[in-house]
Amino acid sequence: MSERLTPEQVELRDAVRELARERIAPRAAEIDERAEFPRDVVELFARHDVFALGYPAEYGGLGEPLLTNCLMIEEVSRVCATSGLILAVQALGSLPLLLAGSEEQKRRWIPGLASGELLDAFALTEAGAGSDPAGIRTRAVRDGDGWRIDGTKRFISHGSVADLVAVFAVTDPGAGRHRDLSCFYVERGTPGFEVARLEHKMGIRGSPTAELVFDGARVPDANRVGEVGEGFRIAMRTLDRSRPGVAAQAVGIAQGATDVAVAYARDRVQFGKPIGEQQMVQAMLADMATRTEAARQLLYAACDRIERGDGDASRWAAMCKLFAGDTAMAVTTDAVQVLGGYGYITEYPVERMMRDAKITQLYEGTQQIQRLVVARALLSAQ
Ligand SMILES: Cc1cc2nc3c(=O)[nH]c(=O)nc-3n(C[C@H](O)[C@H](O)[C@H](O)COP(=O)(O)OP(=O)(O)OC[C@H]3O[C@@H](n4cnc5c(N)ncnc54)[C@H](O)[C@@H]3O)c2cc1C
Repeated sequence: MSERLTPEQVELRDAVRELARERIAPRAAEIDERAEFPRDVVELFARHDVFALGYPAEYGGLGEPLLTNCLMIEEVSRVCATSGLILAVQALGSLPLLLAGSEEQKRRWIPGLASGELLDAFALTEAGAGSDPAGIRTRAVRDGDGWRIDGTKRFISHGSVADLVAVFAVTDPGAGRHRDLSCFYVERGTPGFEVARLEHKMGIRGSPTAELVFDGARVPDANRVGEVGEGFRIAMRTLDRSRPGVAAQAVGIAQGATDVAVAYARDRVQFGKPIGEQQMVQAMLADMATRTEAARQLLYAACDRIERGDGDASRWAAMCKLFAGDTAMAVTTDAVQVLGGYGYITEYPVERMMRDAKITQLYEGTQQIQRLVVARALLSAQ
């Protein structure tokens, strides 16, 4: 399991595994039940420099590669998918800044993001623009030395708790499908920017999913990231580096469910012996472990490829998210089966894990969209 990891990565992974087991696992059921954003987990990550890992050292980060961040998301999601998502969203929301921000913008915001003092979010989706960003209607219009933003973003993870939201808005409606969007960071407290509502969800219930309204919200030009018209490209490049984070969340959920199922199969006695001695139960456990390990190895390989910048990042990001998301759904469903009726009640964590797994097949592009990305890359390759 550790062949691809450096000794430092193994050490970091083990440290976060312990932190997650001791400090986050005991909170997971409560976070889910109360659907409350776990501020204590944010503080825990900040105190242990977990946020800092993925940011460049020159801006207060620890300069670790994508794989290290994914290891952290995996370990935390193994016990609590909502908490794992805190790390994934922080990475997602800051990717436009890292990929296209100016030196001044990076110096302004990255130290706060790396220390955990600032939280961010990524706002692409709208009611009429989910899988297809061409449906985006949020408009940004030049207004003196800044921009006026009008529109509504839907399903924005951490939208209600973020200090900084990367908002994608149409700046030039006539420019054509991939050149009409630009990206702006809108700061919390900007007049005209409001949280309209929070969604009630099946899973990742402690992660606030917000509808954000921009009603004449004015942002200075200094908050525009990248060139005017570069928004679509920034969003797609962001997803190439953030989808592995969703895959890591999925691998963690699958591993967590396997852990619980194995322990239960050892202890639960029916027909005079542990159910783990029944071959049909053994087959389920073997398939769960095999699928989870296969998803993990594909994720780690994808991180290497993406980090190397070998030009095929979109395909690898989509493949690992696709395979890991489907794995998490299948493995958690089997985990519920291994626990029988006890798998279906909230006394055991596998029903929560099954509910949490579903989102990994939906966000940052549904599984159908991942298949489209993979197939297009295959068919266009020379
Ligand atoms: C809890 C949660 C958190 C989220 N967080 C964020 C966030 O932080 N930031 C953000 O910007 N967005 C976020 N999203 C939005 C998420 O990325 C979208 O919901 C997702 O991309 C799908 O869009 P949609 O829901 O509009 O579905 P639709 O696009 O309407 O799709 C409906 C169905 O049609 C299928 N479909 C659509 N087009 C095609 C096609 N061309 N070929 C085949 N099948 C197709 C889809 O696969 C799906 O099965 C979040 C969503 C949820 C539920």
